Amino acid sequence: MSPQQPFWKTKPLKAMTRAEWESLCDGCGRCCLHKMRDEDTDALVFTNVACRLLSIGSCRCADYENRRAWVPDCVKLTPARLKKIDWLPPTCAYRLVEEGKDLPWWHPLVSGDPETVHQAGVSVRGKAIRERDAGPFEQHIVRWPGQEPRGARAQPPSDRKKGPQET
Ligand code: SF4
Ligand code: SF4
Repeated sequence: MSPQQPFWKTKPLKAMTRAEWESLCDGCGRCCLHKMRDEDTDALVFTNVACRLLSIGSCRCADYENRRAWVPDCVKLTPARLKKIDWLPPTCAYRLVEEGKDLPWWHPLVSGDPETVHQAGVSVRGKAIRERDAGPFEQHIVRWPGQEPRGARAQPPSDRKKGPQET
């Protein structure tokens, strides 16, 4: 008998419970960086400036339940909105599941450890700056929030081949 498949492999996003949906978020914080869109061309650029509610250490929203009272334009992800949003990173679990892909080893639902998203270099820890320290956002335009980080495809530490000196 095959082992039971995890919910993200068997359920479409729109059939997930609220708890399942929320647990899909890997805690990377990439979607909580400010973005700018050119009004004329619609071109999108990313910055490394964190939303004022994002803790740049934990990479979590400091008041998730009440966030829209602080940040009215915070976008609530839904299965329908996912299809229209063009700024989620390629590593975002919602995007991966929507595209029919599996979650990577560093996702906390797979690893069982909320630190692996940071260890793999996927989160914004050490890369984001606070909004109050940033000054003009135009000085903080970066490309990495929209790109796949190098560590995202790396194997988990326990699967890496041991070198000749290692036992
Ligand atoms: S990019 Fe996706 S997985 Fe990462 S914090 Fe945002 S919603 Fe969660
Ligand atoms: S309000 Fe919270 S969830 Fe929304 S962008 Fe800011 S940190 Fe992220």
